[in-house]
Amino acid sequence: MGMRCPYCNSSDSRVADSRPDTEDAVIRRRRVCNQCGAKFTTVERIQMRDLVVVKNSGKQEPFDREKLRRSIKLACRNRDVGDEQIERLVASIQRRLETDSMDDTVTSVAVGQMVSDSLLNLDPIAFIRFVSVYRKFSKVSDFKKIIDKIPEADEGAQVCPLPKTSLF
Ligand SMILES: [Zn+2]
Repeated sequence: MGMRCPYCNSSDSRVADSRPDTEDAVIRRRRVCNQCGAKFTTVERIQMRDLVVVKNSGKQEPFDREKLRRSIKLACRNRDVGDEQIERLVASIQRRLETDSMDDTVTSVAVGQMVSDSLLNLDPIAFIRFVSVYRKFSKVSDFKKIIDKIPEADEGAQVCPLPKTSLF
């Protein structure tokens, strides 16, 4: 696969042996040149793509996985969502962004949309919290519009944490 022999420069070689290194992100392959018979080793390293987020203002910044995790965790605060679920969510969002992006850039709108779609499936309250921050809600009507998007099946989901009897 285009791996040139360091001795004769032929790109025709075969893999004689491959094994993962002690680090999981590295694989060493023992190769044999089909042209001159020389043996050499190649090291394959898994490279995470460096995504760049393009904001509404046009400003670009590196994709920050930790920031994404924090914002999701904040939206899920005091909700029945565990750290492991949040971690899985972040991982799946990152994978989808990497898969969808043709040129390693994603828009902040696309990221926000992906997060809100995922949260809507996970927890409606976390969804509302996240969207209100990400879309900078300032009016009650903003909330009304978004709440209408929540499927009715989820409406009973502990929306009101106050004990009904102690209000008066
Ligand atoms: Zn060779």
